[in-house]
Amino acid sequence: MTEFKDIHIAYFSMEIGVDSSIPTYSGGLGVLAGDTLRSFADLEIPVVGITLLYKKGYFKQTINEKGEQTEEEVKWNPEKFLKPLPNEVTVTIEDRKVKIKAWIYKLKGVTEQTNPILFLDTDIIGNSEFDKTITHQLYGHEDQYRLAQEIVLGIGGTRMLENLGFQNLKKYHMNEGHSALLTLELYNKLKDKNIESVRKKCVFTTHTPVPAGHDQFPKALAEKMLGEMIKPELKNDIFLDEKLNMTYLGLRFSEFINGVAKKHGEVSRDMFPGYHIESITNGVHSAFWCSKHLKKLFDKYIPGWEVDSFSLRYILSIPKEELWDAHIECKKELLRFVKEHNNVEMNPEIFTIGFARRVATYKRGDMLFSDIKRLKNIAEKSKGLQIIYAGKAHPRDWEGKQVIKKIINAMKEVNENIKVCYIQNYDISIAKMLVSGVDLWLNTPLRPQEASGTSGMKAAHNGVPQFSVLDGWWLEGHIENVTGWSIGAHPDNTKENIHLEDVKDMYDKLEYVIMPKFYNDRTAWIDTMRHSIAINGSFFNTHRMAQQYVLNAYFQ
Ligand SMILES: *Cc1c(COP(=O)(O)O)cnc(C)c1O
Repeated sequence: MTEFKDIHIAYFSMEIGVDSSIPTYSGGLGVLAGDTLRSFADLEIPVVGITLLYKKGYFKQTINEKGEQTEEEVKWNPEKFLKPLPNEVTVTIEDRKVKIKAWIYKLKGVTEQTNPILFLDTDIIGNSEFDKTITHQLYGHEDQYRLAQEIVLGIGGTRMLENLGFQNLKKYHMNEGHSALLTLELYNKLKDKNIESVRKKCVFTTHTPVPAGHDQFPKALAEKMLGEMIKPELKNDIFLDEKLNMTYLGLRFSEFINGVAKKHGEVSRDMFPGYHIESITNGVHSAFWCSKHLKKLFDKYIPGWEVDSFSLRYILSIPKEELWDAHIECKKELLRFVKEHNNVEMNPEIFTIGFARRVATYKRGDMLFSDIKRLKNIAEKSKGLQIIYAGKAHPRDWEGKQVIKKIINAMKEVNENIKVCYIQNYDISIAKMLVSGVDLWLNTPLRPQEASGTSGMKAAHNGVPQFSVLDGWWLEGHIENVTGWSIGAHPDNTKENIHLEDVKDMYDKLEYVIMPKFYNDRTAWIDTMRHSIAINGSFFNTHRMAQQYVLNAYFQ
């Protein structure tokens, strides 16, 4: 493994999804962190990842007949995947000393390079009962709990790195604001107490395009919990409108700041005037997200593609039938899973739409069912339609839970004409099956709330075209009828009733453009599949993204 002293970059993230058996992620942010760290390892860029252990995982989802979601703890065994380290550091929260230990995961790339990921743990003897729970749950809802988690991650994480002998860290990369308290620790350790010296070491990636989404805490609570960590001369730098706003902290103390797609960079510049904000568009880890059937094909025609994601462009010259055969293998595998777990018998000949992501209202997961009569009609007029859903709502997102209910209810209404199923417990392994096994990947966020979105990139890698509202990465990846299709107006075109426009456009294109192409012009359809891989797989990957971080953010 890379020696700690040879590592120059520390990558902090509230969640890291590195393996589907390590349930320490809830959605896109964590999966992105995992993909990013995998690419760093493959490219032999020495980076250490830091996150929290979450002994109780995210949650196991069950959806009952009525469409109600219930949650259970996930039992997982850290010893199976991680190794405990003997080192211990402390942070002060209110007036309590909280002890922190770390577990290490060795992330091996395609070559011999192995990078460490540290999972911080406060469930140790000597800590109070409350403090033991700090690293139990991902995204606890109470301010006090969350701030305690962020103190452990940002301040505790930085201390742990020092304690473990990471003496040569040049950059601290904050993947979203949750870890931004690390800036206070860096500042407090300086002799010259100069903010510029902290800024030189910090890189901040923001992921949130709406003001309400930014993590913040009341000033009084922050002062109480952080105590002496907040130096009097910094109060104006730390607090904004009587709040500790983690995004503001990241912005204020970082030299390099970026959004996660070009559009998101623009939106962030409007939201935070006065800061220099760049954009580095997200990606996904190509080899991790390609199904085994596609991998076999790539291995045959594009040797070396795993280290050189750009070479996926050569997919344009491979035989169409072979790509189709590989896709059908993926589809059959998904349909077998659906039969086994949902007891729904789907047909591999029938056009199948996939929709899966964290259930949040802005993603409009129930949009396909806006006009059930029209949808049934579209299915009847063609050779048929099948739809597969998956996604968890946050345990306290009541509106998100309503969306799941609506989907389940609509499912019963269309049952005779259209087979629909909702796969429970969406996670990395289910995502892998879905993005490769459906024929079309649907995405319907409200503009401009999708900072980037990544599941469509996973689908593109598997030759599954995307049908999406023009937001996030799709503004960059979309070429109409070549890599997929858009839904609704361009975001610069500020129409009223945008939702109704989107719905109409979605149905129209399905009925008149997309499904006819699938059923009546299979050769042209497979060409769209090839272009999804060649144009989008070759670019929207974390190998390209990691290189941009290295060149633009870490070593400018
Ligand atoms: C990729 C992924 C996501 C993120 O999907 P988006 O399209 O960005 O919303 C969420 N959850 C899981 C399990 C994923 O694999």
